[in-house]
Amino acid sequence: MKIAYLVGDGMGDYPVEVLGSRTPLQAADAPNMRRIAAAGQLRMVQTAPDSLPPGSDVCNLALMGYNAAENYTGRAAIEAAGMGLDLAPDDVAFRCNLVTVTDDVMIDHASDHITTAEAHQIIEALAAELADDAIRFAPGVSYRHLLIWQNGPSDCTTEPPHEILERRIDSHLPSGPGAEAVRDLMARSRAILEAHPVNRARIAAGKRPASQIWLWGQGKAMQLASYRELYGLSGSMITAVDLLRGLAVLAGLEVIDVEGATGWIDTNYEGKAAAALDALKRNDFVYVHVEAPDECGHRGDAALKTQAISEFDARIVGPIWRGLEAMGEPYRLILTMDHRTPVSLRGHSREPVPMAVLDGPVGAVTAERAFDETVNDGQAQCFVFDWVRELLRG
Ligand SMILES: [Zn+2]
Repeated sequence: MKIAYLVGDGMGDYPVEVLGSRTPLQAADAPNMRRIAAAGQLRMVQTAPDSLPPGSDVCNLALMGYNAAENYTGRAAIEAAGMGLDLAPDDVAFRCNLVTVTDDVMIDHASDHITTAEAHQIIEALAAELADDAIRFAPGVSYRHLLIWQNGPSDCTTEPPHEILERRIDSHLPSGPGAEAVRDLMARSRAILEAHPVNRARIAAGKRPASQIWLWGQGKAMQLASYRELYGLSGSMITAVDLLRGLAVLAGLEVIDVEGATGWIDTNYEGKAAAALDALKRNDFVYVHVEAPDECGHRGDAALKTQAISEFDARIVGPIWRGLEAMGEPYRLILTMDHRTPVSLRGHSREPVPMAVLDGPVGAVTAERAFDETVNDGQAQCFVFDWVRELLRG
């Protein structure tokens, strides 16, 4: 059986006034998702264990069938695996965002989606001043980078910058054991970046500068049992973001690069759908992750989030479903999201999310059923990794 797992990051939400008190999932033009919900099984699932915050790392780990409460060390450790970095046992990886902080308020966790080329010039300047025998920088994509710190303070408490948008940073700075050194690096980055030519050019062009680094999500190297060991499955991951690449590497899935996959609303949807169907010719399993709805939620833009969900339905879910039907083989299509990113919060929330599972081929489906936050009155029927383990065992 072929298994296609389609995840729209952060699609869940609350009713939004400008959408006529509907959620973006309800307001979206999403006939494919509603038909899959009608023809398949539909449940509300809990994706974040009580002991961990509902980050994309924890929630995608659970969607993939792992008990995050047992396996999780830190987001940056997952991203390090995705970037092909080998962490030594005493290395602590920190996520190093380039952020925009103005008058001590977190304005933008993404520095206006700074380009990778600009970001690498900035990381180079930071490394020249801040790196030493114990600290090194690993440049990533756009605003997302890593700082690897030998014997770094793994036990301090850090907060994701996308969870504190529009708030003063004072009460959200790293705290606890060793936090002073982390805060010190962040403070020193401000002075280095203030006069950087890349930032001067961005400000002149009306774009937000990368005013400092924000360190968070730290953890030591992480290990997972592979899909082959657990389920006898070979498979692949299609995503634009390092976090999901990392989860794929740790789970023993092949990462397929799709040209033009951006993690934003302008991503190459057709390329991702085609790559997924192509991968299923060779393998049993494919996980297709689309980041855009989450990013729109963090922007607080309900209309854009609704559009991102409509695009996901029309250009990812529809073509992959039709492709599976056309293959003429038994398939299982799993459709869900990792968590809610309510536009009113501009951050994640831990309420359950809908998940639909369709075993095909089923032929033409015209009936529709709501695929939204009201499934089962919004109450979780299971913790997602329990159900996923059943589904992947076939
Ligand atoms: Zn997410």
